[in-house]
Amino acid sequence: MTHSSRLAIHGGEKVKTTPFGTGKRFGSEEAKELLEALEQNTLFYHFGAKVKQFLTDFNEMYEVPYSVATSSGTAAIHVALGAAGITVGDEVITSPITDYGSIIGILYQNAIPVFADVDPHSYNMDPASIEAHITPRTKAILVVHLAGNACDMDPIIEIAKKYNLKVIEDCAQAYLTKYKGQLVGTFGDYGCFSTNDFKHISTGDGGIVTVNSGDKEDYYRTHAFADKNYKRIGTSLDRTPSSLAPNYRMTELQGAVGIAQLKRLEWLCGRRTELGSALTEGLKDLPQLSTMEVAPDNCCTYWFYMFRLVDGKLNCTRDEFGAALDAEGIKNRLGYIPSVIYMQPMFQNKQAYLDSQFPFDLTGADYKQGDCPVAEEVLRTAIQVPINEFYTDQDIRETIEAIRKVTLFYSK
Ligand SMILES: *Cc1c(COP(=O)(O)O)cnc(C)c1O
Repeated sequence: MTHSSRLAIHGGEKVKTTPFGTGKRFGSEEAKELLEALEQNTLFYHFGAKVKQFLTDFNEMYEVPYSVATSSGTAAIHVALGAAGITVGDEVITSPITDYGSIIGILYQNAIPVFADVDPHSYNMDPASIEAHITPRTKAILVVHLAGNACDMDPIIEIAKKYNLKVIEDCAQAYLTKYKGQLVGTFGDYGCFSTNDFKHISTGDGGIVTVNSGDKEDYYRTHAFADKNYKRIGTSLDRTPSSLAPNYRMTELQGAVGIAQLKRLEWLCGRRTELGSALTEGLKDLPQLSTMEVAPDNCCTYWFYMFRLVDGKLNCTRDEFGAALDAEGIKNRLGYIPSVIYMQPMFQNKQAYLDSQFPFDLTGADYKQGDCPVAEEVLRTAIQVPINEFYTDQDIRETIEAIRKVTLFYSK
């Protein structure tokens, strides 16, 4: 170690003295596509060529038959739920460690989220816990591939077949993530992606739903659910919907940017995989920490990196660890979300809609501390550091050095 072991927070020399690498996410390719979109004289997806091209390119990359563009990742998940036939009083099993975008569509369908516990090292849903939460009301499993790391899909698909459940994959954080060599988003009935500005690729806001069944009717149903249940494809225009669906359309502006962004995806994910793997390599010998576990046959594209402090091995609190790491020049966040989703007010008050307990009161759903003990433990002990494709090898070396320095200082 070139730096003194005196922590920066105690007045020592800090490990990271140069800024993290940055870069331009949008360039002349995006500008060219945008200009072409404007020159079409329409920005409506159904009349223009940009959203269509974006989806064609995406389908080719993912080798899926059909996909539908949406206005957000949240919208993509809602559309998948709608297309899957999820309705009032159904139960959908999902992860308690996720973005609210996974949950919103379930509640807007007046269905009830049920939370399965997670694996302590991948932080992804544990198949045994999924199976234990199945009831006669269960209609779907909504898996979340957290931080670019694949869920254990083989047993999940097996459970879904056994109980005749739909599988929807939330791939918002998992572009080009692979499970046993196959891209996530292609295992379930539907794969949902987000192109919000904080994801691997951005169209400002936006989303994609893949329709993996290959069934044309399924595709038409999914397409319609993102567009007020108006039927625009596979039939003559029909604007007399027989059930409710939102307007979640993507515009040509987003489609145009998306075409150019997709071209960057492979490089960007490859770089994130390299950097995330390097972090694990650099930390895995420390018994005080538990690193983010990626199964050997899988490829993680690290939307972020999250490790955990092992109880009883450090004589500092997580707050102190985080503050010390910050002082060394490494920005970090305690956990990922402040608490498991079911301990947050909407679930504790069982109030999705103002002055109403609907739809929770349909099933007497109950959410309490201890429901998913591993997930609670993960969020209590985890520290997250960002990963970005523009980071240099030196950035990652210094991140490792800083984490090691803080760990060794506080080691028991
Ligand atoms: C970002 C995200 C979403 C929602 O995507 P938006 O485009 O922000 O609506 C859903 N699920 C997960 C896991 C996410 O990270």
